Amino acid sequence: MTSIDPRLAQQLRSAKPFLWLNPAYNNTAPMDQLPLSLQDIEDADARLRRFAPLLSSLFPELKEDNGLIESELIAISQMQQMIFPDLTGKLMIKADHALPVAGSIKARGGIHEVLCHCEALALEHGLLNNIDDDYLKLASEQARKLFNNYEIAVSSTGNLGLSIGIISAALGFKVVVHMSVEAKEWKKQRLRNRGVRVVEHADDYSAAVTAGRAQSDADPASYFVDDENSPRLFTGYAVAALRLKQQLAQQQVPVDAEHPLFVYIPCGVGGAPGGINFGLKQVFGSHVHCFFAEPTQAPCVLLGMQADSEDQLESVYQVGLKVDTEADGLAVSMASAWVCSVIKNILSGVFTVADDDLFRYLYRLHQTENIAIEPSAAAGFTGPLQITSSAAGLKYLQQHQLQPSLANATHLVWTTGGLFVPDEEMKKFQCRGKQLCNS
Ligand SMILES: *Cc1c(COP(=O)(O)O)cnc(C)c1O
Repeated sequence: MTSIDPRLAQQLRSAKPFLWLNPAYNNTAPMDQLPLSLQDIEDADARLRRFAPLLSSLFPELKEDNGLIESELIAISQMQQMIFPDLTGKLMIKADHALPVAGSIKARGGIHEVLCHCEALALEHGLLNNIDDDYLKLASEQARKLFNNYEIAVSSTGNLGLSIGIISAALGFKVVVHMSVEAKEWKKQRLRNRGVRVVEHADDYSAAVTAGRAQSDADPASYFVDDENSPRLFTGYAVAALRLKQQLAQQQVPVDAEHPLFVYIPCGVGGAPGGINFGLKQVFGSHVHCFFAEPTQAPCVLLGMQADSEDQLESVYQVGLKVDTEADGLAVSMASAWVCSVIKNILSGVFTVADDDLFRYLYRLHQTENIAIEPSAAAGFTGPLQITSSAAGLKYLQQHQLQPSLANATHLVWTTGGLFVPDEEMKKFQCRGKQLCNS
């Protein structure tokens, strides 16, 4: 069964929302002991910029931003006034639900990894002479012919498949996406429409990863994007921190000892929030406090953080949970052991969220700010009150002497997906949220 602390196991099994503080969190953790550095994030950023002209030519929606895939930083003062009247400081969202091309937080990481592979092939085969060459050459017939000899494979609960499938198909690669049981039909259809081969699995995400990895490994021309073990995904996700730093400065939102930044990020296998956590720590050090949000039915990273080594890692089934959640982007039973080891000392904590709250908050966001997001993307909204009102939250504030600066704090909720949700589905989400709010 499980070897974790019996009280924690009991708490998890009850499937009631709570805040877990990471006992290994070290607010002044030396960042030079980690397996990746700020330079790795800057390299990923530089790669995304080298490809920007090509991306702009492949995706007209990127023209305006010259091929950069970025989302807005938005103060949601209406929602703060109406829904969080007692929250001091400033409530904001990082609007990755509207990230172009992929429609979710998976855009930066997923596209970065495919571009790494694409760039390496192009250099190896002489399509590019060096990294200062004209990347628009990669849209040529000759380049597409080359890429069509290669396959890119990935396993997904939906959104990573969209990200990898869309960019790979646009570059001319063959693509296969292994979808786990929770993947929504429209996500599969969207990929098939672009010529992506979709393999449907009757099992959960971890099983789809194992199956996808095995099939890809058997074919030398196939490259597997491995969500459980990927520094390339991770550094791509981390680029968000560099962009956020700029956006905060532009909007004159300070982050320093007197102005702490609390960040709440929905979490599945851990890669996207882990990469952002890592990037934000590089950029803001002890002034940023990162908390992940997981469904009460799938707290795999919360569990993963209890393990001291990879072979100790447990799945949520081992504490009696079922991954039974409408948050398809977060429906993961087993965390990435690699990510958990990287963020061991830099993650402040994890809070769990009931499905009903996902719908309540996605409805409230739409009602007050006219912003529509998918259920997974609403998981961060219980964060600000968990930190400022729960017993564990108050303990954290006290431990880090944050009470005096709370009035100057920024609470940043990362809204992670939703752009491509069909109107019909979005209406159903809204209805369910409205009913819950009015009952
Ligand atoms: C994938 C995803 C996440 C979490 O990312 P992981 O890398 O799986 O932890 C959060 N929100 C949405 C909408 C996602 O699709």
